[in-house]
Amino acid sequence: MASIPIKSLIDLEEQKKSALLVSNCLAEIAKIIKPGLTTFEIDKFAENYIKDFGAKLSFKNYRGFPFNICASVNDVVIHGFPTKIPIKEGDLVDIDIGAFLNGFHGDQAYTFVVGTVESEILDLVSRVKHSLYKGIEQCIEGNTIGDIGAAIQFYTETMYGYGVVTELTGHGLGRDLHEDPSVPNRGKKGKGKILLENMVLAIEPMINLGKKDIVLDRDGWTYRTKDKKPSVHFEHNVVVKKNKPVLLTDFKVIEDAEKKNSNLNSSYY
Ligand code: MG
Repeated sequence: MASIPIKSLIDLEEQKKSALLVSNCLAEIAKIIKPGLTTFEIDKFAENYIKDFGAKLSFKNYRGFPFNICASVNDVVIHGFPTKIPIKEGDLVDIDIGAFLNGFHGDQAYTFVVGTVESEILDLVSRVKHSLYKGIEQCIEGNTIGDIGAAIQFYTETMYGYGVVTELTGHGLGRDLHEDPSVPNRGKKGKGKILLENMVLAIEPMINLGKKDIVLDRDGWTYRTKDKKPSVHFEHNVVVKKNKPVLLTDFKVIEDAEKKNSNLNSSYY
């Protein structure tokens, strides 16, 4: 197995640019998303935005993926195809974008709540976002990959009974879109690979309101919940540090835009 890449400080400066480009793109999407817009239109918007900064869309043609972004609505867990179906009131729209700039990838996902949803859905969204930060807190040198998964699993499955998707994981991120190690959203404290300073991890809890089981569509990409209940996905790019992890991606720009868009709802911890 390949060793886990350790980034130099210069690498991290470059990678931060890719990561923030994705965050800023998601913030622009947060301004325009509304019922009636299609995820296909969001795909084109993201393509134009990322290309305007001289970057490439990381997902396009990755292992044959045919679109620029992943758009995973409601019961779609991840890797959904953008479609020409209009977004409607009450949809959960997970937009996942990768950008490749100056040799490094940024990769971030954010679940938007379009219109009004039941409180159990809003709770799910808030708690999945919070679980991501529980995982991020573990990104300290000397901790393990299992510590990250254990923290996310405890906060979602143990505390609230949500289904933690097992088959799909976060990953290392840098010059390649998917680097070693994989970062499961469940795990055991103290188990798995040891984290070293300046590893970059894409941590991305994929958490289901119902059971954890998923099925793959015939398109070979789209994962859905087997029980057809909604799933929520958030993703940050995190640098392991000796004392306090550092985020390369930014949620604040997205949240600020989200709060100003009257078509969107979210609740924040
Ligand atoms: Mg990812």
